[in-house]
Amino acid sequence: MSALISVVAPVHNEGPGVERFVRRLTEVLTGAGLRFELVLVDDGSRDDSWDRIVRQSLLDRRVRGIQLSRNFGKEPAVLAGLEHATGDAVVVIDSDLQHPPAAIPAMVRRWREGAHVVEAVKRNRAGQGLVGRIGGRLFNKAFTAMTTVDLVDATDFRLLSRAALDALLRLPEHSSFFRGTSSWIGFRRSTIEVDIDHRADGGSRWTFRSLFRLAVNGITSFTSAPLHLVTFVGLAFAAFAVVLGAQTLIRWVNGGSVAGFPTVILLLLVMGTFVLLGLGVIGEYLARIHEEVRGRPRYLVQERVDGLPVAPEPVA
Ligand code: UDP
Ligand code: MG
Repeated sequence: MSALISVVAPVHNEGPGVERFVRRLTEVLTGAGLRFELVLVDDGSRDDSWDRIVRQSLLDRRVRGIQLSRNFGKEPAVLAGLEHATGDAVVVIDSDLQHPPAAIPAMVRRWREGAHVVEAVKRNRAGQGLVGRIGGRLFNKAFTAMTTVDLVDATDFRLLSRAALDALLRLPEHSSFFRGTSSWIGFRRSTIEVDIDHRADGGSRWTFRSLFRLAVNGITSFTSAPLHLVTFVGLAFAAFAVVLGAQTLIRWVNGGSVAGFPTVILLLLVMGTFVLLGLGVIGEYLARIHEEVRGRPRYLVQERVDGLPVAPEPVA
């Protein structure tokens, strides 16, 4: 039998988008003569997404559904899908059709040619506002600068071989950052360029808050550079303090008037801000340690529908 491709897609309040996605994906994969299973992870949708997934699973045994017990976020949802995938290679893709399923056969080809990780990098950033675009760019640049992982124009749309997936699943951390960890593991890599589509309906399911958390989690789980930055700025301030302090003292000893109310205010503001930011940075790392130590499961499964065993090879 030919290789089995697992396609993992997180679903959060996608409504009729579920059928649209399943149809499109099935079309592309059967068209390419691939044997596949589709693992749809319902990440605590409040609409009828889960019912739709169940229906799709009953109609097509290749469609499997996993329902998380509440909204855990995209990262845990992807992880749930990865842990349940049984294929020889697994493709992670958004269920909103912003990642073009049509690119999957090309990714599979790269995998057959020997790549273990095939990343889709984006040619454009459709469906993102100006702030999102700039924010995304800045974050990727900052992340790439602070770590050894290159995120520039990266997406979550990627294929992992079974070996790479098993390596990824061995990472023990609880708050995962798929885009980062799937690069961190190494393995022979390849990239393909894709055009990101506009969302068919509604806006991004991310809120500013959840994106901010993703960014902070991503950074704190990969590098302690911000901590070193705090130390560094602290040292720079110390040097500054010595110079300014000496100057003030000398003036005072020489009987000069010690004016400079604005200076005092400015110093207070700058110092205060920096001290609080520094505390915040330390706090973020502390929170991560706390989370890891608590060791709670990263997601909980409420229900599953399994079309398994996977249907025989499609007739091409
Ligand atoms: N998603 C999820 N849980 C969430 C938010 C989003 O599983 O809490 C899914 C969503 O259904 C979609 C993918 O993650 O398949 C990407 O979400 P979205 O399109 O909202 O983000 P963007 O395209 O802006 O990155
Ligand atoms: Mg999207």
